[in-house]
Amino acid sequence: MGTLTGKTALVTGSSRGIGRATALRLADEGALVAVHYTSNQEAADDVVRTIEKEGGRAFAVQAELGVPGDVHDLFLGVEQGLKERTGTTDLNILVNNAGVMGGVAPEDTTPELFDRIIAVNAKAPFFIIQRALTIMPDGGRIINISTGLTRTANPQEIAYAMSKGAVEMLALHFAKHLGPRGITINSVAPGITRNDNPVFDMPEVVEQMAQLSVFNRVGEPRDVGDVVALLASDDARWITGAFVDASGGTLVG
Ligand code: NDP
Repeated sequence: MGTLTGKTALVTGSSRGIGRATALRLADEGALVAVHYTSNQEAADDVVRTIEKEGGRAFAVQAELGVPGDVHDLFLGVEQGLKERTGTTDLNILVNNAGVMGGVAPEDTTPELFDRIIAVNAKAPFFIIQRALTIMPDGGRIINISTGLTRTANPQEIAYAMSKGAVEMLALHFAKHLGPRGITINSVAPGITRNDNPVFDMPEVVEQMAQLSVFNRVGEPRDVGDVVALLASDDARWITGAFVDASGGTLVG
């Protein structure tokens, strides 16, 4: 029996990257997982198929985040999927993972780009948490994916780092609010982690990025997914309001 048998989970942005690895690991531990995506249905369906092949349970949910009605659309699919499979809409674990980066110099950052980054990365997680709390039983788990860039500078990502700094505030303040319900909330900060970005196909760039970690490699999505699964488990019941460095030692300087 896995550590999450009988639990239900929503992982936003789990069609790819860190979210995908997190969904796979939570399902491997026995959770029924809502695999959320925005545009890449094929990728989300592949995650669901992979989980089912391993004997786990999952379903895909589509919703674009950072636009009006986003949270409503997301929970329509989540609640329907949970109800069909469990008979209730109880959601035990929420992972706010979906995010967009900037990759633009500060002088080229437009108000539109800034607003979008804040809307997807900071505003959406707040209102997803607000909505999730209406169906989360006591003892639930909330994990928000931040970034090591809230601790180390990259001038190409100021707006992005600002959005993730805001996300980290969710753990601090909600921890106090949710303590009486036994719900924990924490931030997980990855360092450079392999995803579909073409830079990861360039060995000389990967070698340079690897040097940022004390382990001399770039992170794999699973490195972060495993940390999220730990925080989602009962073993992590005494950790809340925390910033968890999952950067492979990138932040030690
Ligand atoms: P990917 O770029 O590989 O995947 C992004 C996921 O988010 C996809 O599932 C995508 O859905 C979904 N998504 C993106 N925009 C939206 C939107 N507007 N509405 C709904 N869903 C959306 O992500 P990573 O694995 O690289 O990153 C995951 C998280 O980790 C992010 O929060 C990121 O900021 C953070 N992070 C990543 C690092 C890295 O080096 N990779 C380092 C530090 C932090 P679809 O497939 O349908 O497009």
